[in-house]
Amino acid sequence: MIELRPAPGKGMGMFATQDIPRGQILIHEAALLRLTSQQECPPNWWVFLYGAFESLSPEDQTRYLELFYLPGEFSNYAARISVYLSNFRGVKEEDLDAKVALVIKIMSIYDVNNAQLGDGTDGAGIFATYTRINHSCAPNTDWDWQPDSQALEVCANQDIAAGEEITITYIDTLQPYETRARELAVYGFECRCKACYDPVKAISDLGRQALEDLTRAREHLERLSSGEEPIENVDPFMLDNCGMIISELATKHVEFLTAEGLTGSELDRASKFPAHFHDLFGRYRRFCEAAHFASKNRLFHQ
Ligand SMILES: [Zn+2]
Repeated sequence: MIELRPAPGKGMGMFATQDIPRGQILIHEAALLRLTSQQECPPNWWVFLYGAFESLSPEDQTRYLELFYLPGEFSNYAARISVYLSNFRGVKEEDLDAKVALVIKIMSIYDVNNAQLGDGTDGAGIFATYTRINHSCAPNTDWDWQPDSQALEVCANQDIAAGEEITITYIDTLQPYETRARELAVYGFECRCKACYDPVKAISDLGRQALEDLTRAREHLERLSSGEEPIENVDPFMLDNCGMIISELATKHVEFLTAEGLTGSELDRASKFPAHFHDLFGRYRRFCEAAHFASKNRLFHQ
């Protein structure tokens, strides 16, 4: 269904070998290497990382070392890594420079390729196939961590034609072009996706700003409906009117997201929200309508 091959101007990329429908799971994979949330904490995260790397099979170590990284990123760790390796790991003087360089490379690879799992309580991991997918600000897939099967899943968030590149986002896509470009520079490239071209990016920025506002409003209402924020603190007028405008707002939100090519998990959340809201306020008829609306746009099964 997918294959890895050279992508013009981007090194390697993942491509569809056949037409893929929205909702299709493209990748279901266990981590090549994983750190718990405690192990990921500074200042000694690299000691755990090196330990996890050493416990991999020689084949998996090779797969890990083939992944993309930006050289020079952790060179300021060299002195302390050197002390650790000679004092605690018995590395000989003549092997020290090569071993320090190896640890720095392992750290650099982890830094640009790791995925935070779920809400972070499951730690983070490196996934050999997933990490080969290139970025787009209008990605055609989304990924999700499945705690039950302890696997990462990548799912098509729109119909993908045979030969099309599979893309995912590395950053928050609702940010304007300049911010996205700055954040993507960390990964060592300039994005040339359909949202980042002149003059499209100026129009896209306006649309994404409106989406950002809608998303914040939805998140606020979600916090209310989950009880995270007390309802007593809310203007009663707002609550009365919310029920009426919520479905309309969600419909607009879904339309905007689809127009911007953002058909992933944000679309999923935006379309589910009316169901949560009407459920909370006992508007059962509206709840049924809203649940139907959500099911039409559902991506991952939960
Ligand atoms: Zn882009």
